[in-house]
Amino acid sequence: MKIITDIEEMKEFSRNLKKSSKKISFVPTMGKLHLGHIKLIESAKKYGETAVSIFVNPLQFGQGEDFNDYPRDFENDEKILSDLAVPVLFYPKSDIVSGTETFLINPEYSEKLEGLFRPSHFKGVLTIVMKLFGIIEPDFAFFGLKDYQQYVLVKKMAEDFFLNVKIIPVETVREKCGLAMSSRNTYFDEDGKKAACAFYKVLSAAAGLFNAGESSAEKLNGFVIKELIRNGFKVDYAEITDADLKNRKQTALNGDILLAAVRFKGVRLLDNIFLLKK
Ligand code: AMP
Repeated sequence: MKIITDIEEMKEFSRNLKKSSKKISFVPTMGKLHLGHIKLIESAKKYGETAVSIFVNPLQFGQGEDFNDYPRDFENDEKILSDLAVPVLFYPKSDIVSGTETFLINPEYSEKLEGLFRPSHFKGVLTIVMKLFGIIEPDFAFFGLKDYQQYVLVKKMAEDFFLNVKIIPVETVREKCGLAMSSRNTYFDEDGKKAACAFYKVLSAAAGLFNAGESSAEKLNGFVIKELIRNGFKVDYAEITDADLKNRKQTALNGDILLAAVRFKGVRLLDNIFLLKK
């Protein structure tokens, strides 16, 4: 596996792949790789030569958030990627963000859901993703549905700027108990992680109530919030919207999505579930 830290060298590597008519599949990550990332990479490999990036992006962390503490384990990540036979790892230095004067925002989303709680988060995400797209020029880019709002925003950005990249969503990979895999799960001890499993269980129970006929968003969200609090979670939000995140729902319909963010033992967790009639 080739490890590239230099922006110009990465551009040239991509250009050479394109010259030999290869398609480029791209998986951006912040490292501390787990099975969720691995699923993205395995999906990407089916579409072309896979480039993975690892960069803990300071632009997407707010003041008082965990940028400094964010788990980093380059040695192990490198081993995982080599074992997966990934041809190139882009591991940029901080010069990829230093001196940036232009930032991307989507005003419609900056005040919704995550945006309410992390005001400059998506500005940082869209800006780094655009930079990475500019360097790598991928044909396909893979984003996890765990970060559903991020996926929707990146997809919209690619459409708005007529980028030649297809954004491909990948299902959330979960622990056996349902907890979505996340680099931040490493903050938990064994007991904490076990207890955090209740998060997805509560979301699943709400989806079950919807399937059984309950369509009042107030009741479904109320159920989620009450159950999460009962299990020791602090709830930032629990909301039902349509799948493109345009409208908050009062009456949930088949195909809507329930999104929630919580804090548990000092760790912030994000998850969602589609409301589907079975
Ligand atoms: P991160 O390194 O946390 O920034 O995540 C990099 C990519 O992996 C993003 O597109 C995430 O949505 C995706 N991802 C993170 N966790 C999971 C998971 N449990 N299942 C699927 N994709 C995930």
